[in-house]
Amino acid sequence: MTSEVSERIHVCFFPFMAHGHMIPILDMAKLFSSRGAKSTIITTPSNSKILEKPIEAFRNQNPGLEIGIRIFDFPSVELGLPEGCENVDFINSNQKPDAGDLSLKFLFSTKHMKQQWESFIETTKPSCIVADMFFPWATEAAEKFGVPRLVFHGTSFFSLCCSYNMRTHKPHKKVATTSTPFVIPGLPGDIVITAEQANVADEETPMGKFMKEVRESESISFGVLVNSFYELESTYADFYRCFVAKRAWHIGPLSLSNTEIAEKAGRGKKASIDERECLQWLDSKTPGSVVYMSFGSGTNFTNEQLLEIAAGLEGSGQNFIWVVRKNNNKGENEEWLPEGFEERTKGKGLIIRGWAPQVLILDHKAVGGFVTHCGWNSAIEGIAAGLPMVTWPMGAEQFYNEKLLTKVLKTGVNVGATELVKKGKLISREEVEKAVREVIVGEEAEERRERAKKLGEMAKAAVEEGGSSFKDLNKFMEEVNGRK
Ligand code: UDP
Repeated sequence: MTSEVSERIHVCFFPFMAHGHMIPILDMAKLFSSRGAKSTIITTPSNSKILEKPIEAFRNQNPGLEIGIRIFDFPSVELGLPEGCENVDFINSNQKPDAGDLSLKFLFSTKHMKQQWESFIETTKPSCIVADMFFPWATEAAEKFGVPRLVFHGTSFFSLCCSYNMRTHKPHKKVATTSTPFVIPGLPGDIVITAEQANVADEETPMGKFMKEVRESESISFGVLVNSFYELESTYADFYRCFVAKRAWHIGPLSLSNTEIAEKAGRGKKASIDERECLQWLDSKTPGSVVYMSFGSGTNFTNEQLLEIAAGLEGSGQNFIWVVRKNNNKGENEEWLPEGFEERTKGKGLIIRGWAPQVLILDHKAVGGFVTHCGWNSAIEGIAAGLPMVTWPMGAEQFYNEKLLTKVLKTGVNVGATELVKKGKLISREEVEKAVREVIVGEEAEERRERAKKLGEMAKAAVEEGGSSFKDLNKFMEEVNGRK
């Protein structure tokens, strides 16, 4: 496609306000704009601050490409939320006993933006809008003005297929307990799961009702954009297009649209470590020898669990970078860290307290394994970097992604996480130690590494000119352009 054709497309992106949703949408907006479209990201005042810097940097690097932000009003206090609560991160960082209720309230309160959304679409008339799945009201609003709405779930084809088959066949209703394993019916690959891991919202709960709305809005939408590539999960991409949503385009891995060091380091929050310091540390290690451990943007472990992790990392004897969502209280007594840990692991281990420049780290040749909670962004970033993984799913759709990594792709080993994290089962130091060793050392590790490396190469080929994701994005843009 020539940029002349796509230049005429104006795509509006509306991410849910959480880092795990905003990061891939920003990547997507940059990708569209680098292919000649005009991209506008819609968000709230405080979230716009997160996006401004990377957008400005992108514009400076690519003069002539069009990308911008449009701010919608989000009066959190009037909506019954705490002041300044415009992002899920606010809820995760101020964890209170009612965090679950607050998350739901936050989710439902986004409907407040419907009015602004409608007048924006009416006056701007974009070529299409890409709105997060969590905005079910967006389809109707767009349709009113003849603008196609695309859905972005931010997960894999595999997990979308798993949830579809769970909903269709309801196998979790036919087992004795929530921890009884069963095969997901009708899905290729004999995927074994438990009711608890599948985490299907009960239809009668507020969340269940909300998810029904999400599905209904999706069924009348223009289609679905997926942050994946065909070669990774072709069986499930085909299944999805055949049985779930006929109109789906795979355009990922989106993280690969970041090529410069600053771009890779500047995703989400400000990193808690200087990127040069981080790279220097990695440069001093032999290729494939470092394990990177991080659990996404929202996980907060108990001190007890953190102590087990620390002991497991130390016991493994491997080099590591460990991202811990704790404030930087260096010098003070940190109850979550065994005494003398940092002195003993000096040179071998690096703790990042807060936010890590994840993609920059994953792409470094010294990194040989990734301990992840299996949030899809992290999973596909690890895949794109060609890394084997230790899987530690906790909730959401992470157990599905975990099955993809361990059972289908065979590039992951499970740490021993079989229950939702909220149930409080502790993963022991022995389990952490074993899984970390397993992913770096030994014959099986070597085979896993080879498989992961091939996937990384396939991922890069998919987004290059002529690759499957490159072509699918072209197809999509041509189709949108053709509607005008
Ligand atoms: N991330 C990061 N630094 C961190 C933690 C997370 O850059 O310290 C990024 C990570 O690269 C990914 C996103 O935040 O793009 C997290 O998304 P994911 O789907 O993995 O997990 P979630 O936070 O949604 O559970």
